[in-house]
Amino acid sequence: MFDHPSYDAHEGVHLFEDAASGLKAIIAVHSTARGPAAGGCRMWNYETGEAMLKDALRLSQGMSYKNAMADIPLGGGKAVIWGDSRKDKSGELFRAFGRAVESLQGRYITAEDVGIDVSDMEIVRQETAHVAGLSHGEAASGDPSPVTALGVFRGIVETARRAFGSADLSGRTVAVQGVGSVGGYVCGHLAAAGARLVITDIDQAALQDVAGRTGAKIVDPNDIYDAEADIFSPNALGAVVNEKTLPRFRVKAIAGGANNQLVVPEMGELLRRQGILYAPDYVINGGGIINVAAEISGTYSRDWVDAKLDRLMETLGEVLDEALSTGAPTNEVADRIARQRIADARPTT
Ligand code: NAD
Repeated sequence: MFDHPSYDAHEGVHLFEDAASGLKAIIAVHSTARGPAAGGCRMWNYETGEAMLKDALRLSQGMSYKNAMADIPLGGGKAVIWGDSRKDKSGELFRAFGRAVESLQGRYITAEDVGIDVSDMEIVRQETAHVAGLSHGEAASGDPSPVTALGVFRGIVETARRAFGSADLSGRTVAVQGVGSVGGYVCGHLAAAGARLVITDIDQAALQDVAGRTGAKIVDPNDIYDAEADIFSPNALGAVVNEKTLPRFRVKAIAGGANNQLVVPEMGELLRRQGILYAPDYVINGGGIINVAAEISGTYSRDWVDAKLDRLMETLGEVLDEALSTGAPTNEVADRIARQRIADARPTT
């Protein structure tokens, strides 16, 4: 473990197996310096245990960075459950997972991520109080996607302000990959701001719905990278900035809600050289975790969420400005600020 390339002095990496329910899970606690480690639970049919471990290590570190940039009193952690979310779910499995979360005594707080929905978390809740993203209850915050999307839209505006010298999106073309929970709302905001949209998805019904509401032009999933557009907004998959897509981009900015957009961090420098301003993913998409943090605090307040989102947008602006003035890639600037915030919160002994 200590030699693993994705290990970054994680405070704890916990393996759980429950023979009765078939649960195989990893909970990685990257840092609790800023507060309890919070991050969703992902259910995925990994090819190997090694792939599962790598995901848990990288995602939990990413949550530390995201929560630090959002300036919320939470550290970073992530849970991964090994299995096919369409076939392998059961009440027993999620109760066993709930007991695993409970055994960490609040050092890790779980929520939904890929493959997991609110009803699964309601079962987890039967075994532990250390769970967020619930649909009811005193402070329940519900679906975080609208707040994530509002932050992404505002982040697109901040990015445009720097890439084009104007925050006005009317007449600009934005190529949107993925019109699901986040992307659908992002398209609504963009259309209201007067942007022209080129959209893609593998879900035809979602595409027709968004095109009907916004007048967007639909393209095939593989054609979105070559779209004649000013801004590319990825809101579906990770790793969409890679050696194959890089030469195809026609845009001057990339700003979207998807997690882990760069296949490797070095892509940040290549984007910079290509004259593309990249809004670091875990900064621009922090609205959702702010919404969840409000729930974790015990008293959900929309005013608190809005104030944190305002501050996050200022932070994004500071990252972009520093990168532009120093010539550093935006992702490196964000990583450095996040690491500094985590180090500053570490208790000195
Ligand atoms: P979602 O599942 O609702 O939407 C994803 C959409 O992408 C779906 O419509 C899906 O059909 C589409 N898609 C899948 N493969 C595609 C492909 N090859 N080409 C084009 N479209 C494809 O998920 P979401 O909640 O909207 O999340 C989208 C992204 O944002 C994810 O990367 C997620 O991790 C990230 N994110 C979401 C939130 C949130 O609040 N939901 C917060 C932070 C980050």
